[in-house]
Amino acid sequence: MQKGSIRVQTENIFPIIKKFLYSDHDIFLRELISNAVDATQKLKTLSSIGEAKGELGELKIEVKLDIDNKTITISDRGLGMTADEVEKYINQVAFSGAEEFVNKYKGQNENNIIGKFGLGFYSAFMVSDKVEIFTKSFRDGAKPVRWECDGSPEYMLEETEKEQRGTDIVLHINEESKEFLDELRIESVLKRFCRFLPVPIFFIGKEIEEDPQPINNTQPAWVRKPSELTAEDYQNFYKELYPYNETPLFWIHLNVDYPFNLTGILYFPKIKQNYEIQKDKIQLYANQVFVTDEVKDIVPEFLMLLQGVIDSPDIPLNVSRSYLQGDPNVKKINNHITKKVADKLDEIFRNERTSFEEKWDSLGLFVKYGMMTDDKFLEKANKFHLFQSADGSKFYTLEEYRLAAETLQKNKEGKLVILYTTDPVQQDAYIKAAEAKGYIVVKLDTLIDASFINQMEPKWNDVHFNRVDSDITDNLIDKQENTEMVLNEDDQTKLKSLFSITPPGLQVTVELKGLSPEAPPVLATRPEFMRRMKDMAAMSGPM
Ligand code: ADP
Ligand code: MG
Repeated sequence: MQKGSIRVQTENIFPIIKKFLYSDHDIFLRELISNAVDATQKLKTLSSIGEAKGELGELKIEVKLDIDNKTITISDRGLGMTADEVEKYINQVAFSGAEEFVNKYKGQNENNIIGKFGLGFYSAFMVSDKVEIFTKSFRDGAKPVRWECDGSPEYMLEETEKEQRGTDIVLHINEESKEFLDELRIESVLKRFCRFLPVPIFFIGKEIEEDPQPINNTQPAWVRKPSELTAEDYQNFYKELYPYNETPLFWIHLNVDYPFNLTGILYFPKIKQNYEIQKDKIQLYANQVFVTDEVKDIVPEFLMLLQGVIDSPDIPLNVSRSYLQGDPNVKKINNHITKKVADKLDEIFRNERTSFEEKWDSLGLFVKYGMMTDDKFLEKANKFHLFQSADGSKFYTLEEYRLAAETLQKNKEGKLVILYTTDPVQQDAYIKAAEAKGYIVVKLDTLIDASFINQMEPKWNDVHFNRVDSDITDNLIDKQENTEMVLNEDDQTKLKSLFSITPPGLQVTVELKGLSPEAPPVLATRPEFMRRMKDMAAMSGPM
């Protein structure tokens, strides 16, 4: 038997880091600025416990683009490094000073540190022929040093001149990456990843600005306490995220610290009546660094249409910060979000029913979709899901409908018969006739309702849905004819585009139960469906 340890050939590791570790080259800026933020936060921590003495000065980060010299420089006023620390933290690939710091200062706001893997710094070589570090430690009498490396395993370290505490990283941009020697390009990358980082970041391009403003908001609403925030603050933050959108219906401030750490604000947008695809998605952050807006798995599918921000250092990100599927933490976060949203809806329903009813047009879609796809949500939503009367004037929960209709509207199996209309105008005569008999007719006329009915019948097993223009309305005896309406591709795509996968029940066929036998099954329903879709499209536009 033979035992040993694997040796790594440093010559080979650089090309791997450069080429394969990060597929998205833009992230070099995210990584270097994250390090600058970490350096600043560490200095603050050390100062707060008395390890760093004296005035800290203005703590800011500068990103300077020098097109003539083909360099990008990232400067911070953080804790800096001594020569020994450069040896330890920079020259050892995959040794994370961030992790070491977090372990050493446990309990002293370790949650603010972004770094983790000890690899981020090397992303600089994806875009650089040569990288220089000029750094001066906060420690008394520390000598400033310059480190230089051209991406080969050989580096150079020497004493240098540097007035201020902190670190400058100078990137000599390589030929293939000259796209980054462009102000707009850098600004857009900064805006994407750094817009809510906690240390002010200034971009310095060609023009010297008189009153330079940081590119970031260091105190985004989600990191503040809910008790400090007014409705206007939440709305302003929404505007900051999505400048062209209308005021959201309401929002949920997430704030969890056990068993995982998660903050964020989720907004319920107004849903356009034509179900136009929303491109403004929920954004995922880790310690205020933008990670992605592909939040599938973390956010329950039926809430994918929500907007806002989720921030969690506990979302298990790999080196390239795409998240891991099937991770138990991800599942927990997902469940928690579902629960929070259900609780919030329940709270609004109980405390502000009128406003809840007014928003039902938009809300109904989330609620119904959630009820169809998530049994835990269904359990809670049963209490606040609403049926709207055919003329739109009244709203009933299932229980309220049951109480009001039970005596008259029972079929011979003893099930509660819910009478619904898919078109209050066209079916007006039937509605009037049913109401004259004392029945209550509700409106189920949105895109999702056909499959909602289909899904809910088995889930609410003592309920039967009956369309108002079926002849059984006369005596509420349940006839068993089913006619099928097959959603055509267009309609299916439209619905699918709202959610990432097809709502169950829509994939195959949608059944409309109890249609009169004379009606030709497909032809009778399909044009009606199409007309409804067109009506909805015509109603759209700004609401
Ligand atoms: P990580 O951030 O995951 O620890 P990096 O490769 O990004 O790994 O950085 C390695 C280490 O180098 C950091 O943990 C830190 O100790 C040190 N370092 C990098 N940039 C700076 C900086 N601007 N100021 C001070 N130290 C830094
Ligand atoms: Mg880092």
